[in-house]
Amino acid sequence: MNVVIVGANHAGIAAANTLLDNYPEVNVTMVDRNSNLSYLGCGTALWVGRQIDSYQKLFYTNKEAFEAKGATIHMETSVTGIDFAGHVVHCAGADGSVFDVSYDKLILATGSLPISPKLPGADLEGISFLKLFQEGQEVDRQVSDESVRSIAVIGAGYIGVEIAEAAKRRGKEVRLFDIAPTSLASYYDPEFAHLMDERLAEGGVECHFGEAVTAYEGDEAGHVRAVTTSSGSYPADLVVNAIGFVPNVELGREHLELGAKGAYRVDSHQRTSDPDVYAIGDCATIWSNALREETYIALATNAVRTGIVAGHNVGGTPLEGIGVQGSNAISVFGLNLCSTGLSVAAAERAGMDVAFSDFADLQRPGFMRENAEVKIRIVYEKDSRRVVGAQLASTMDVSMAIHMFSLAIEEGVSIDRLKLLDIFFLPHFNQPYNYITMCALGAK
Ligand SMILES: Cc1cc2nc3c(=O)[nH]c(=O)nc-3n(C[C@H](O)[C@H](O)[C@H](O)COP(=O)(O)OP(=O)(O)OC[C@H]3O[C@@H](n4cnc5c(N)ncnc54)[C@H](O)[C@@H]3O)c2cc1C
Repeated sequence: MNVVIVGANHAGIAAANTLLDNYPEVNVTMVDRNSNLSYLGCGTALWVGRQIDSYQKLFYTNKEAFEAKGATIHMETSVTGIDFAGHVVHCAGADGSVFDVSYDKLILATGSLPISPKLPGADLEGISFLKLFQEGQEVDRQVSDESVRSIAVIGAGYIGVEIAEAAKRRGKEVRLFDIAPTSLASYYDPEFAHLMDERLAEGGVECHFGEAVTAYEGDEAGHVRAVTTSSGSYPADLVVNAIGFVPNVELGREHLELGAKGAYRVDSHQRTSDPDVYAIGDCATIWSNALREETYIALATNAVRTGIVAGHNVGGTPLEGIGVQGSNAISVFGLNLCSTGLSVAAAERAGMDVAFSDFADLQRPGFMRENAEVKIRIVYEKDSRRVVGAQLASTMDVSMAIHMFSLAIEEGVSIDRLKLLDIFFLPHFNQPYNYITMCALGAK
């Protein structure tokens, strides 16, 4: 059986490894237009902020690793079109070569594209995105340039917040813009997002929330020098656009059914509306266990899981995905936030009738020297009382607790089941009256 995988980043890599490691009889061909694969974008801000020693280790595999397992891999090669009826993929190499590859099963792992705001001045020099390794390198080059003093980051999602912190760590004047009233508005309720807003301000980032960027302004040489918003004009020698991503469905838009946010609609086996075509990662829809409906969540974690599911199904082992909760975390200027499922705001936007319970306490008993406050919110459906979301904030690492809530959402557990859950106590870790217990007990 010939399997072609279009896109050799996190999703494509997971599918390819699943096939190569478990189904030796399958011929795997991978095609990617980029020159590198497996770049961990989460490391860009860590490198720009010089919190790690090198960017080299942000890649976890390479072309040779796949060739060693028997795959054929064409890098710097674009798939220019697909003949779905004839089962043929048309390719064009950066070296000018043009060739076709035929498939029995096709896996689309074409990922996502950064949203490019169509604003006046969008073609000026010094306006960057932060998706590819090359873009991260370009932002780092500019941050390293002493003549670049002011940086405007547009979009205060996790990518914008992280790069704002990184640029500040390098001594720049940083302004962070978002049309939403807080940072991280898609993942956290204002009570949690405000903690991050305060932390950013304390760290020296000038936050402009509730402010829409309307234009980029340039100098005579065609380089960006300012951004204009609904409230004023601000200097900017470098602009980083981080306003989100859209699924890259260029190759299959005409042939395949599209779902949430225009991504390829897939079933629980990652199969599209064409039985011989699978879609995985950022180009595909995903099942939300909190919403109990199809959604779109662009995360590397989902890319890997969906790649594994597609790999087994294509290889011949029927395997259903179990859906996701959109679990995520962020750590900026020492403040850690993590969440899973829906915030109250997100649940209400989706038309759900939810309640929530809040609790705040020290992580460890008061007699412990190393200590910090933990703030928790559990969101649950009013009628069924099933847990649909949780948020945690602390300067300590409390992130492992969020995985329990992820499982609770996946399994449809009610908040009442958490009230007397067996949670251990040891002063080194927590309090006898654990904050999860206390928060659940607080639910009306
Ligand atoms: C700065 C940043 C930080 C992030 N941090 C995190 C994090 O901390 N945690 C997390 O879970 N996620 C994080 N993400 C999100 C994560 O990177 C994406 O969800 C993930 O890359 C999706 O993987 P993918 O393989 O589906 O798609 P992509 O990574 O978008 O890869 C798609 C691949 O397809 C190739 N391709 C597309 N079209 C064609 C074509 N026509 N021909 C040939 N090749 C093609 C592209 O070259 C690309 O290599 C971050 C993203 C960014 C940008």
